Amino acid sequence: MAKRDYYEILGVAKGASQEEIKKAYRQNAMKYHPDRNPGDKEAEEKFKETAEAYEVLNDPSKRERYDRFGHEGLKGGMGGFGGFDFDLSDALRTFMEGFGGFGDFFGGSSRRSGPERGNDLQIRLKLSLKEVATGVEKKIRIKRMIKCKACGGSGAQSSHSIKTCSVCHGTGQIRQVSRSLLGQFVNITPCRTCGGEGKIICDPCINCNGMGRVKGETTIEVNIPAGVASGNYITLRNEGDVGPKGGPSGDVFVFIEEEEDELFERHGDDILYHLPISIPQAVLGDEVEIPTLTGKARLHIDPGVQSGKIFRMRGRGISHLHGHGKGDQLVKITVWTPTKISKEVKGLFQKLAKHKDVLPN
Ligand SMILES: [Zn+2]
Ligand SMILES: [Zn+2]
Repeated sequence: MAKRDYYEILGVAKGASQEEIKKAYRQNAMKYHPDRNPGDKEAEEKFKETAEAYEVLNDPSKRERYDRFGHEGLKGGMGGFGGFDFDLSDALRTFMEGFGGFGDFFGGSSRRSGPERGNDLQIRLKLSLKEVATGVEKKIRIKRMIKCKACGGSGAQSSHSIKTCSVCHGTGQIRQVSRSLLGQFVNITPCRTCGGEGKIICDPCINCNGMGRVKGETTIEVNIPAGVASGNYITLRNEGDVGPKGGPSGDVFVFIEEEEDELFERHGDDILYHLPISIPQAVLGDEVEIPTLTGKARLHIDPGVQSGKIFRMRGRGISHLHGHGKGDQLVKITVWTPTKISKEVKGLFQKLAKHKDVLPN
């Protein structure tokens, strides 16, 4: 089944702002949420489709790829490692993650009150083919919001400057019960007085202006498994910006970018090496030394080898990302034709040219 255009699914224009996309997603996701449409397969499909569209368009790098290459641009690299197929649990996770508080609209109990979560951060990480082949541990320096040391993240000058909100009595929520023909509804909204935090700071920390966090820089370690490719990303949970006023941290997404290699071309988990050989080597055969990802190796060339012949050196390629084993190194032979020759060599070739053994059959 052909996939529909993501912008069309959300009902927004191609140049829509992040805010418009978020809003459109909310509306659609609310409408098609399975809790509201029990047993309705069509609504479930729409719900999944909406989540998938949102996952792409809400992420600047995925959106850019989609804008440039369409659905094709997202193949292979989406959702961590592997294909991109949204099932219901993915869609529900998108829903819960994107809009932490929405559970309540359907009578759930997952509403998160208290301080906001920090932002997710994105980093691009360039890797050489060798690093991709074996996997690597990288240290990355990132700028992120860190907890204010002066107030320990509370945002308050002292413990006496925090007061329980008198409007919501510290719950951060306002419950309103209303009755209608359909029954009783409980509407829960965040408390406006305290912004859903349940407490009020009357004397903010001077170091962080009451935000509980300040700008900082940290080094984080990323373990890159062997076999990753451009477009793959690794999620580092809770390594993003710390939330304001002691809120939980966001995540860091490390996007892999593979650098071009001087010697090898990557083809999936196989690597291709071009080997030019001389005419006498092609005719007589030879034993040559060639580079591999793990140092030099010897390659035996049979007499009479043709240009274009590919030798396969098993297990000399890139480790498979999923499961065990490795790809191969392919060595493609090109018989090199000399362009500048002396009189003597010219004479030899002229003699050869008349011989029936050298004619193609
Ligand atoms: Zn502070
Ligand atoms: Zn309150």
